[in-house]
Amino acid sequence: MSTTRFPSLPKPLFGVSKSWKQYSKERAILHIDMNAFFASVEQAQRPYLKGKPVLISADPYGTPKGARSVAATASYEARAYGVKTGMPLFQAKELCPHAVIVEGDARKYTGISLKFLEILKTFTDLVEPYSIDEAFIDVTNTEHLFGNKVEIAKKIKKLVKENFGITCSIGIGPNKLVAKIASDLEKPDGLVVIEKKDLPEAIWHLPVEAIPGIGRKRMLKMNLMGIHTLKDLALYPQENLRRAFGIVGVYLQNAAFGLDDSPVVPEEKIGDPKSISSASTFGKDTLDEEKIASALFYLTEKAVLRMKRHRLKATVVGVWLRYEDFSSEGKGEKVKQEISTFEEVKYHAFRILERFMPPKKHVRLVGVYLGGLKKIEFEDISLFKSESKKRMVDDLIIETRKKCGPCSLLRARSLIGEKIVMT
Ligand SMILES: [Mg+2]
Repeated sequence: MSTTRFPSLPKPLFGVSKSWKQYSKERAILHIDMNAFFASVEQAQRPYLKGKPVLISADPYGTPKGARSVAATASYEARAYGVKTGMPLFQAKELCPHAVIVEGDARKYTGISLKFLEILKTFTDLVEPYSIDEAFIDVTNTEHLFGNKVEIAKKIKKLVKENFGITCSIGIGPNKLVAKIASDLEKPDGLVVIEKKDLPEAIWHLPVEAIPGIGRKRMLKMNLMGIHTLKDLALYPQENLRRAFGIVGVYLQNAAFGLDDSPVVPEEKIGDPKSISSASTFGKDTLDEEKIASALFYLTEKAVLRMKRHRLKATVVGVWLRYEDFSSEGKGEKVKQEISTFEEVKYHAFRILERFMPPKKHVRLVGVYLGGLKKIEFEDISLFKSESKKRMVDDLIIETRKKCGPCSLLRARSLIGEKIVMT
């Protein structure tokens, strides 16, 4: 005889904005984060690296280019010296001169990441990858099959250890936000549960930057307003937050109460974009062709990587400029054969850019547009090594940026000229 664990509740008498389902059961969400992922994998696979400070970099050799490369991950031993993920390699070496620098292996990390997701899928269909080494899972409806949420978390930790030889931190909460906050509380190898009944007080002592979405800039602004902890943020007059941060201010205040009803969405359910564009405003309006080209190079790459994540190919490439007087001008090309790699898109983008050069006025913004997107049905098999190498570079960049932020790994060309302001 089957029994229902949760008796059905009487239907509310009045319409509520939230769906009926949300009232029927408290959700059990886990956020799983593999610790110092790239470095831990290398330490697990090469015993001589165990216990040593290790830095993983895409370009570890001291070439002039290498001077600008970054530590994609630092092991905990290196972090003890103040090395942070995403730090330029030369700076990391100054802090920790005896660190062992290892060349990253994108294929290997991506393979482990996929296997990691497979492990999580044995506990529920609701698995949402968040980055190469992080994911959310919703076990609300599968707890009865695999033990309670804490037992599931322990099983996952064991499986990650057995399969990859590394540790992970797991946070459990009634929603994604609280689960993510919880997993950040104990690193490495943590397991932190925050129950709904203990909210919001259970998180109120934390600094505002515990909320994903509050980076350094917002944190400093909040600190200037006298907001240091989540309690400060929760109790701050909402009108003032709205004035300072816009609608984001309201979202962040809700977050300080631990409120979040966003669902865990499996990757295959996320819709594909109809077009992709990427634009950037210069710190200072410019006539410098090299600067404009360098920005376009970076933006093209950003757009291509987004396209690749959705497994799409493009048939239209466009470039547009906005001038100092805010007038805009755009040009595009329809391409005969669908294109999907960075080299292909770059060829067209730069050909279009040439038609704008030299610029007739100071340029304020440059943007790239990819349209006519179609799904890639079958993975093309590269006959030539050089082609597959190019793809590997694209893949490595995708994964590193997912993990370490949009500027963590750049092709050298996009570093020419001044820093660009992303819009
Ligand atoms: Mg991690």
